[in-house]
Amino acid sequence: MTKHIFVTGGVVSSLGKGLTSASVGLLQERRGFSVRMQKLDPYINVDPGTMSPYQHGEVYVLDDGSETDLDLGHYERFTKSPLSRKSNTTTGRIYSSVIEKERKGEYLGATVQVVPHVTNEIKASILKLAADDVDVVITELGGTVGDIEGLPFMEAIRQIPLDVGKENCLFIHLTLVPYLKAAREAKTKPTQHSVGQLRQIGIQPDILVVRTERAMGRENAEKIALFCNVEKEAVIEEIDKTLSIYEVPLGLAENKIDELIIKKLGLPRTELKIDDWKDLMHRIRNPQHEVTIAVVGKYIEHRDAYKSIYESLTHAGFAHSTRVLIKRIEAEECEAEDLDQLLGNVDGLLVPGGFGYRGIEGKIKAVQYARERGIPYFGICLGMQCAVIEYARNVLGLKEANSTEFAVDTPDPVICLLEEQKTITDKGGTMRLGAQPCILQEESKSRQAYGEQEISERHRHRFEFNPAYKERLIESGMHPTGTSPNGNLVEIVEVADHPWFVAVQYHPEFKSNPLDSHPLFRDFVGAALKKHQGK
Ligand code: GLN
Repeated sequence: MTKHIFVTGGVVSSLGKGLTSASVGLLQERRGFSVRMQKLDPYINVDPGTMSPYQHGEVYVLDDGSETDLDLGHYERFTKSPLSRKSNTTTGRIYSSVIEKERKGEYLGATVQVVPHVTNEIKASILKLAADDVDVVITELGGTVGDIEGLPFMEAIRQIPLDVGKENCLFIHLTLVPYLKAAREAKTKPTQHSVGQLRQIGIQPDILVVRTERAMGRENAEKIALFCNVEKEAVIEEIDKTLSIYEVPLGLAENKIDELIIKKLGLPRTELKIDDWKDLMHRIRNPQHEVTIAVVGKYIEHRDAYKSIYESLTHAGFAHSTRVLIKRIEAEECEAEDLDQLLGNVDGLLVPGGFGYRGIEGKIKAVQYARERGIPYFGICLGMQCAVIEYARNVLGLKEANSTEFAVDTPDPVICLLEEQKTITDKGGTMRLGAQPCILQEESKSRQAYGEQEISERHRHRFEFNPAYKERLIESGMHPTGTSPNGNLVEIVEVADHPWFVAVQYHPEFKSNPLDSHPLFRDFVGAALKKHQGK
């Protein structure tokens, strides 16, 4: 019988529910259980693909091409849970399918209502992940208890123990205990209120994970236990981790959350095997080197807009026992400012993906700076397109070279719309999305990094390298070193006469994890380290 763990949040948003859920998943896996992770998002968008990174942070893309919430990135970095379209359910998706069924007459004349029709649809999507070979399904509910749009989801998870048995379900609620400097006290009242709200809905949490800035003390934990009706040992403190998010699972394990879960769900008492993770923490605490990587992007001030890029750079650092300092640079600043000031001291430059014209000229200038000075460059998606435009303008001398995304009438469209995109009008879920095979050229930096000839990487774009310019670019030193199997689409370009200049049309940042850095990020940071040491 598959067990279900539900993770809800209270008091404030941004408590790190995704990280906590992923950490719980990791600990269950490390006790030998097979885990499936999923996220329920109560907003009405069908998926986050159409949302601005300012609103929502990064859009995380899966192999099957679904555009999902960035918490799924945590799931993939921490666990082995296979993820697909089924792993991220929104109100938009639920209502689309309820309305489709209503139109087909599947409700047989019933008045279609939130309870039971919408809640049944939510329950079905949660329970879909249960299977014979799955021990634990972890379902994270986005938003905060009390949100109007979250209510049908809360109601659905309240009902699940009635369907699958109380003994097979566990509710974890994540809250905050703020420390009031003026009173010199940690305050438990918001947690009490939040659990009160949850109990009003009919959910009694089994475990409270309490986020705190500093240790709240046994007394407060006991107070929370009493007022919230949970056992003392089920109040688990999660103190802010300043060094690394990869400390979170170890902190939770120290507070014995994994043991508690096993006990409460009646799972077999297996051993926790987490030595490799402890070893990783040791390496994180004792780096041997340090490099600075500039990330020049358009959504720089939003911490989550390039989440997976930052994480992948950090993982690459782990592989070299190197602390990677990330210098976030607003692309528009590169247009106006002296680049020596901004990029003079960095060991590598990365331009990530993006959409729209703002900041493009700054990114192109930054790429030129890195190319001409031999600074290791890693271009991702739009960062690859900028590299091609820059090369065409400054090496081929095609001064007006551009992407038709930014200049429809450019005389030299070195980046143009993919053929399959030309007739598409809808914005949602219509890009070239998900895993695509790519063949690597012998003796290229990418081939060297991956160590194999055929790879598969995830895509999310509408525009592509224009093959009409291929020959001229090759002649002048920019090589397409990775292509689709039929050779039609260019997926990677490299500049031959440069220490490390690799730009890819896909998103390698979605396939890196802390114990196994993505090969291109690893080699990029390796090249940056070499440059740093040569200084
Ligand atoms: N805007 C570009 C395109 O659609 C790049 C997309 C991206 O960087 N994800 O092709």
